Amino acid sequence: MFPTNGLIDFHCHLDLYPDHAAAVREADAAGVFTLAVTTTPKAWPRNHELARETRHVRAALGLHPQLVSSRSDEVGLWESLLPQTRYVGEVGLDAGPRFYKSLELQKAVFKQILKSCAKAGGKIITVHSVRATKAVLDQVEEYVARGSNRVVLHWFTGSKSEAVRAIELGCYFSINGSMLESERASTVVRSLPMERILTETDGPFTEAAGRPSKPTDVAGTVQSLAHVHSVPASTLVRTMKENLRRLLQETEPSS
Ligand code: MN
Repeated sequence: MFPTNGLIDFHCHLDLYPDHAAAVREADAAGVFTLAVTTTPKAWPRNHELARETRHVRAALGLHPQLVSSRSDEVGLWESLLPQTRYVGEVGLDAGPRFYKSLELQKAVFKQILKSCAKAGGKIITVHSVRATKAVLDQVEEYVARGSNRVVLHWFTGSKSEAVRAIELGCYFSINGSMLESERASTVVRSLPMERILTETDGPFTEAAGRPSKPTDVAGTVQSLAHVHSVPASTLVRTMKENLRRLLQETEPSS
């Protein structure tokens, strides 16, 4: 199988696996750079504690849009933890049928989060945008498109023209295996410049080989994505490493 060392899983919920600590250790031992996203700021301290001992795992501070209806009061805790991390997520908007009711509240929370990032600078933000691509890009454009923050659109489902707009706003895209299963989505993914692409699993919410995905499964996504872009997998791996390095440089504190 494809070597996993040096691959990237830029959006994975390591704390939602049966054994969180083992999931962190496994990703680290495989040498997969894994961004451990969180759905509530209450989960961040433990994620950070486990990640800080590793070479390849980092924890992101999140407040998931699907939880905003019950947890919007945690945005204060989210803000108080922000100075401790350069990684933010999972945050964003979800206008799907189950969460549409809280969309206005989600927008208020997302705005507060992005404004805090804009004020702080130097954040890498992994963003959820289910049925809300335009609303997400509107807020990204208003609050964080300029300056030293960078947005990574996770599981992007927008159109080609929305992808063009996102690229113009400086966004990156993290691509998972499920995104490449539909012809329409693959066409949009093919239109993205390789210089803006990373891989993700969104584990454990996607499947690989009939079980919940884990970070090492990005190896399969790399092969599919290389095929979509008609390049050798090794070229894609090298390009994504450069992309991650650039993301980190672009968000480096200037002092
Ligand atoms: Mn997710």
